[in-house]
Amino acid sequence: MSLDKVYEEVVDRNPGEEEFHQAVKEVLESIEPAMEKHPEFADAKIVERLVEPERQIIFRVPWKDDDGEVHVNRGFRVQFNSAIGPYKGGIRFHPSVYIGIIKFLGFEQIFKNSLTGLAMGGGKGGSDFDPKGKSDDEIMRFCKSFMNELYRHIGPDTDVPAGDIGVGGREIGYMYGQYKKLKNRFEGVFTGKSPEWGGSLVRPEATGYGLVYITQEMLNHANEDLKGKEVLISGSGNVAQYALEKCNELGAKVVTLSDSDGVIYDPEGIDGEKKDYVFKLKQERRGRIREYAEEYDVEYVEGGNPWGFNADIALPSATQNEIEQEDAEKLAANDVIALGEGANMPSTPGAMKVYKENDILVAPAKAANAGGVSVSGLEMAQNSQRESWSFEKVDNRLQEIMQNIHETCYETSKKYGDEGNLMLGANIAGFVKVAKAMLDQGLV
Ligand code: NDP
Repeated sequence: MSLDKVYEEVVDRNPGEEEFHQAVKEVLESIEPAMEKHPEFADAKIVERLVEPERQIIFRVPWKDDDGEVHVNRGFRVQFNSAIGPYKGGIRFHPSVYIGIIKFLGFEQIFKNSLTGLAMGGGKGGSDFDPKGKSDDEIMRFCKSFMNELYRHIGPDTDVPAGDIGVGGREIGYMYGQYKKLKNRFEGVFTGKSPEWGGSLVRPEATGYGLVYITQEMLNHANEDLKGKEVLISGSGNVAQYALEKCNELGAKVVTLSDSDGVIYDPEGIDGEKKDYVFKLKQERRGRIREYAEEYDVEYVEGGNPWGFNADIALPSATQNEIEQEDAEKLAANDVIALGEGANMPSTPGAMKVYKENDILVAPAKAANAGGVSVSGLEMAQNSQRESWSFEKVDNRLQEIMQNIHETCYETSKKYGDEGNLMLGANIAGFVKVAKAMLDQGLV
């Protein structure tokens, strides 16, 4: 079956799941040259099998708020592909979550995890629960109810979840506690745990740091440097915060951060005490980014995003499809030279067309935000060995992995005739490894 036909079938068989269709289309558009080189993949219907999750679990999550009222949310875990390792991928709590979002994220995770060089399959989970404005007790009750079902489907050699939007250290703690209670086993079933009870140092920083490491690598390759550059970051959560920290350390100036309410623009740069303020605001007080503008008397645009402000580099780190074609046109008009995708699928197809037309260097999400899952892989290794590695050791491994990912994507793009197209390189390199493993393992 041609890849176009496979895509049509995906749309027919998964109606209304637009984000999933988009993620599949993007991969299928890249892998044509690899399919030509490997006719055995078509014979074994590898692509038809790859776009169908191995298992999808949907479950009820009832919980009580502080006033005693009962609520019912929906929980998901999509175990997409285990050809090269146990399912691995985060859990997202956000009101927009439905099966189409979880499938897009799980599908992307297959290729991302393959690129890291570590033994991890692809999966993703979540719920349409909105953690915003909930008390600690409400969050705890929800997380425990969520785990009351999920625990029977996961395990250190089966499926190892982690965090994502709306799920950080606090939520992982509550879910892990409930897993342990139900299974009576202290084991490495989650990553992103606190270092006091099995977590890895550098895991909280890993996605943001990794994003900046690979962006730096891509710039160096083009005889450019991050030092002295102005950077637009969107979001102000886990990925955005640590991308900000690493940009500051490497001598770049970050001028924007945002949340779902609006964007702040600080032309002097968000560093030193101002960076600490953001960390406290978001990690402890769980406040809104507008408070930064009030505190430091800088511009705040309600409902706005960073893409119209002047800078050299853009690091989208909030959510899917946050850069539309008109936003990308603003980036191009402002002579942005490079873009690193911290968020998953942050660019619409229209935006990607604009990057290409304007020769903007792009580190695609599957490569650029793979630092998080890479350190998760290192956390799994430490848990298996009952060891805790130093910050320096893990950070060095992370840098090495991000360099390797960049090299793999670059060399693959060259091999397949589109040198420097890292999106093509990431999709093909991630795909070929998984496809070969599926072929070796026969029809399962
Ligand atoms: P967080 O929940 O910590 O932060 C998300 C940030 O993005 C918040 O500032 C949030 O604002 C904003 N945001 C979320 N949804 C929207 C929206 N629909 N419109 C505008 N702003 C929005 O999540 P993470 O930082 O962990 O994740 C950010 C992105 O990075 C996601 O795409 C995630 O899949 C990806 N990623 C994360 C990894 C990780 O290790 N955490 C690993 C790899 C990828 P508000 O608070 O107002 O909702």
